[in-house]
Amino acid sequence: MGEEMPGNFFDISEKLLKTDEAVLRKTAPRFAGIERVRDENQWRMLAAFRDCGVAARHLSGTTGYGYNDDGRDKLEQVFARLVGAESALFRHNFMSGTHALAVALFGVLRPGDELLCATGRPYDTLGGVLGLTGEAGAGSLRDFGVRYHEIELAPDGGPDCMAIASAAPGAAVLYLQRSRGYASRRALTNTDIASAATAAKRANPRIRVMVDNCYGEFVEAGEPTAHGADLIVGSLIKNPGGGIAPTGGYIAGKARLVELCANRLTAPGVGAEIGCTQDMLRGMYLGLYFAPGVVAEALKTAVYASALFEMLGFCVSPGWNEARGDIITAVELGTPARLERFCRAIQAMSPVDSMAAPEASYMPGYAHDIIMASGSFTQGSSIELSCDAPMKEPYTAYLQGGLTFAASRAAVLAAAGDVSGESQ
Ligand SMILES: *Cc1c(COP(=O)(O)O)cnc(C)c1O
Repeated sequence: MGEEMPGNFFDISEKLLKTDEAVLRKTAPRFAGIERVRDENQWRMLAAFRDCGVAARHLSGTTGYGYNDDGRDKLEQVFARLVGAESALFRHNFMSGTHALAVALFGVLRPGDELLCATGRPYDTLGGVLGLTGEAGAGSLRDFGVRYHEIELAPDGGPDCMAIASAAPGAAVLYLQRSRGYASRRALTNTDIASAATAAKRANPRIRVMVDNCYGEFVEAGEPTAHGADLIVGSLIKNPGGGIAPTGGYIAGKARLVELCANRLTAPGVGAEIGCTQDMLRGMYLGLYFAPGVVAEALKTAVYASALFEMLGFCVSPGWNEARGDIITAVELGTPARLERFCRAIQAMSPVDSMAAPEASYMPGYAHDIIMASGSFTQGSSIELSCDAPMKEPYTAYLQGGLTFAASRAAVLAAAGDVSGESQ
């Protein structure tokens, strides 16, 4: 064991600890790059807090209607400034990422409009919102007469700008999903988003570009709103909540579009002026403030896991040295037994519920049984180390999150030991 190891609490084999050292040496330049992005995002964060004049009184909330809730309004100003948007909703009233995306889509689209999705089939939970799945009459966009058109990604995994340019004139909104989600594609970078937005707007200057930014926040220096997106949407139990915000979501972008979304979130005529914050604000400010650092820890975990599993002979995506647009790493485990051992090891190395043993089971809306590991402080939080996998070939685990790289490294090492038979 290396001199610098603090002590082996988890029975990780000598051989695996040697591999760990090799992985850390190999990934050091990537880690330095992650820290540069973190520092730029953190400086931009501090500047936004200062420029907006955040004061102690903004950290406590209101009750009832929440009229004149300065803390809420200030937090939204800070977020808008941070991401280069004209305005933002950054609220605990969004119940999930899917809810925030539904509010944004229903907020902006009108009957007869066409939604053009240029990143292939969207994240599973959007199926019911768009009307691609579920029964007619449930209240989907399709029920309200919004048409849907889908374009596949180009062979290089980026947006197909030619196809976007030819479809854009008939569409009201271009929809881009930044993260790979749980699909075998790469995440989009800000450069990809900028080229898709440029192609669409050249063909149709009135089109609005909306980005599902889930899992993408603070992965690069700057957000899609600074690269041609008119609206970005995400969840606070992922990256921008910093592991501290206990619930919530955001929508940020052009002021008029955000106003339309506020009308949908509350009621037309009331918009963003209403919504009390109770005791939520301090955690939301603190989580946002910490988010660039927490996302950097999750990215180090992702790069480390890619390099380690690659070295052990597994197929991973993205590779340890590939560009990243989100915090997800896919590890092909090849057999159901190995996939189960992987998830159980991640669960067993969680700070909360380490005694639980995940089992594959049915989940509404999915074609296969799903197995997942999540031993988190916030239920279902995936900025905390967690993994999800459908029980199907090639038995791929999607690993994400990690509040601190040190702890996540131990969990990833333990999982590697359990699936490669190097320790028990
Ligand atoms: C998490 C996620 C969503 C929203 O999911 P919720 O579980 O409803 O928060 C949407 N799109 C992508 C790409 C996501 O990762």
